[in-house]
Parts: sequence; C-alpha cells; structure tokens
Amino acid sequence: MPEKAFAHRGFMLDVSRHYMPVADIRKLLQAAQTLGLNRMHWHLTDDQGWRIEIRKYPKLTQIGSVRGDSWFGGGSETENNCGYYTQEEIRGIVEYAGSLGIDIIPEIEIPGHESAMLAAYPEYGCRRGNGDGRWPDKVEISCGIFPGLICAGKPDAMRFLKDILDEVTELFPYPAMHIGGDEAMKIRWRRCPDCRRRMREEGIETEDALQRSVVLEIGEYLASRGKRTIVWNDVLEGGPLPDTFIVQQWMGGEEKTRAFMENGGDVIRSDNRSFYLDYCYGQTNLKTIRETPRIPEYARGHEEHLLGVECPLWTERVNNIGRAAYQLFPRLTAVAVWMEAEGELSPAEFTDRVREKQKKIEALGLTGAPESVWEMSEEDAEKDRKAEYSRVYSGRSGELIHANDQMVLLESTERMMREAGLPEDLIYRAGNTVAAEYYGEAADPADESAGKLIRQIMKAAEGREKEDWRKECEHLFRDIQQCAADTAVPDPGIPAVPDREGTR
Ligand SMILES: [Zn+2]
Repeated sequence: MPEKAFAHRGFMLDVSRHYMPVADIRKLLQAAQTLGLNRMHWHLTDDQGWRIEIRKYPKLTQIGSVRGDSWFGGGSETENNCGYYTQEEIRGIVEYAGSLGIDIIPEIEIPGHESAMLAAYPEYGCRRGNGDGRWPDKVEISCGIFPGLICAGKPDAMRFLKDILDEVTELFPYPAMHIGGDEAMKIRWRRCPDCRRRMREEGIETEDALQRSVVLEIGEYLASRGKRTIVWNDVLEGGPLPDTFIVQQWMGGEEKTRAFMENGGDVIRSDNRSFYLDYCYGQTNLKTIRETPRIPEYARGHEEHLLGVECPLWTERVNNIGRAAYQLFPRLTAVAVWMEAEGELSPAEFTDRVREKQKKIEALGLTGAPESVWEMSEEDAEKDRKAEYSRVYSGRSGELIHANDQMVLLESTERMMREAGLPEDLIYRAGNTVAAEYYGEAADPADESAGKLIRQIMKAAEGREKEDWRKECEHLFRDIQQCAADTAVPDPGIPAVPDREGTR
C-alpha cells in the first residue's frame, strides 16, 4: 500500500536564499495536505541567510538574516533578501502544520554553508595557519559553495552549536532533525591549527573524517535530547555512520548509501534528477517523474529502510510564492500521484490524475506551470536547459559564480595534490594565493611560484572535466600518482601547524 511504501512524503523549503512570509508558508502547507504529504523539511540556515531566531545569540538574525541586493541570475535581485522567523512565529507554523497532519523537520547546516552564521559570530570560524585572521565571512549574495565552515577544533564553537540546537529542538516536536552536512569544502580546516589539533588528538587522517567526527558528536548530543539526526549523503564520504542516523540521498555516493542501508540505516530519497523542483522543466518534468523507478538501484534488497521521498525546493531563483508555485506545481503534484499509484499508469492516465489534483491546488490560489511545459520534446527541453543556464550565468551573477567556481576547483585540486604526495606546506602556500585573490587580498610574494604551479594544475584539472581529452589526461594523472606513490618517503603523519598568539 502507498502509505506503507512511502511513510515519509515530503517537500523541502529553503528559506535562506529567499525569505518566505509566514502566510505563504501556510498556503504551501495547505497544498501539501491536499496532496497527502506529511512532512515539510524546513531549510532555515545557509550561506545567504540565517532565518531562525536564537535567543542566546541575537546577532545570528540581526546580522545573519540581512543582505543587500543579491545575484542569483534571473528574477528580482531585491525581493525577500532579508527576514527571519521569531520563535513565536515558528511555534505557530509548527502548530498549524500539525493541525494539517504535517510534521516539520528543521535543518541547521553543519559544518558548511555557514557564511551567514560566521558573519555574525566570526570567532567560531577557523584560524588561519599563518594567523593573520584574514578571509572574512559575509552573508553571501550569490549561488555557490563557500569556504565558511564552523571550526571543528574549538571547544567553544562546538558549545555554540549545541546551544543553538538546544533552542531548535525545543521548538520542533518531531523526533528527528536535519544537520545538513553537504558541500563542505575543507580549505580552511586543512589550514586551521585548532582543527588539525583535533585531528591529531583523535587520530583522524582526513578532513572528511573530521566532518564525520563532528557529525557523530552532534548526533550524540541530539540523541541525548531525544532526536535522531538526518544528514545529506555527502557525510558518508568521511566513513560509515551508525544506523541511528538517517541519510538523505540527493546526488552521488550511491554505493556508500547502499552500504549504509545494508547495515540497517534508514534513507530518505531525494535523487536530484527526479525530485529537485528548483530545476527547470527541461530538466525535470512529468515524464521524468513518471519514469522514475519506484525503488532506486541503491535501495534494492533493502526496501524496508527506504523511508520515503522528499522534493527539495532550493530558492536561489525563487523570490516569492508565485515563483515557488510555478516550480512546485504540478511537479510536486506529479510526485504525489507517482507515490500513490499502485500499478503502472499510462502517460495519459498519469497526466489525467495530475490534472485532477492540480484543480485543488489552483483553488488555493497557487498557480502552477502551464500544461505546455509539463512534458517537452527533447528539443524543447534542451532549449529550456540552455535558457536556464544563460539566465543563471548572465551578468553579475555569472561573474560571482565563476569566482566561486575557482574556490571549488581549488578544493578538488588541493585534494589531488595531497593524493599525489606533494608536500603539505607547498599545497597551502599555493592555495593561499588563489584564496587571496578570491577575497580581494594581496598574496604573499614569497608564494608566487607555488601560486603559478597550482594555477597550472587547476587549469589541467578543469580541462580534464570539460574537454574531450579527459581520458588521456586521466591516464597521465594516474601515472603521476603511481610515480609519486613509488617514490614517496614514509608518511610523517599530520604535521603541526604552529600556533601563534593574538589570532582569532
Ligand atoms: Zn578550525
């Protein structure tokens, strides 16, 4: 029965990238009830805005919920950039959702996507190894993955997180909460004396494993407060998690998610190609949803650990309820039909059922996308994807994404250099020159040649991703790696980065 097959039937609302007024959230909850959904995952914090009042730390909202014009590409750059929910408003929304049979699952991102948090409380970010306290955080104004991570090595920072979670868990009665864990680039952790001390003390070898250690610590804390912990599947990169955790699968790492399920772990399914409703209709439409296998490959044989499905609405380009309705409907409606269907439906039957349900959604005053985009020819879909791409990468938005992409590339290049056995000191000095440029700072002239080297490697790595000669380069890269491994001197372990006084 559908109820049993999909115990978790949800959608996720990101209110960080754009704030959504309370009245509009109530409207979406009504729609969710109409579709038979029972969960709203509320993404309350991210680089571009901190939206939940925390009484012990008022600057989180005083500073973290405010940004000027933003540049996400397409749509207004001034609308709903600021705002937050008071604890009273949150209680009201939770209660209202409960009256509709919908549980709300809050998400506080840990340890990455913390730019807004660190803009308010920079003291809980990492120190630089060279101790000059540069690389400041701000509430971000564009899309991307940013280097702002909470420091894993400062006990005060962990205490700060736990204080926040104390208040969050009080507000939401649901017996689980989400702590994110996705897209945490480790550029700062790699350089921070405090983080590296924790790694030495715990015998941790990689920053991914350090992330896992933080997640385990927080998970244990939440368990002591009666909550299970949900994380994005990225966290499994650092090693396996106990089955008390719940993993939300969105992209990549499927074999690790499968292993997690084999060991008894529960999974919420949000495979991005089928269920990400911020994507354009050329990417994901009724056909994509209809043809999605009911059991994904990674869950075969462990169906009892598949809790259900959740459709995320990330809101970089969703400024208001009108745009949200366009992105959500009828695709969320289609997912509801897909979950309910007990047997195979023909495309016509499927669309008919979606159309029927859509009438109820439209009656709530939520206008979905027109039927002309519900399904598209491959040609039209391609055009739609290209149009979306040029909107996102146009003008100021494109420039900011490009600058940010360089940091993402730096992250993967640093990993690659370390795998190839290059000296850690060289890696940091090289990377610092790229980061300095990103932050609009002057690089240390002594790092000039290291900077040249990393830029060459980054260029090669980027080419490997984008060009046809990828395979040949892969081959070459493997040879270099092998060569480095054959000639490597014994690993001295994680070297200590000297602590210096007077740094944050
Ligand atoms: Zn640190």
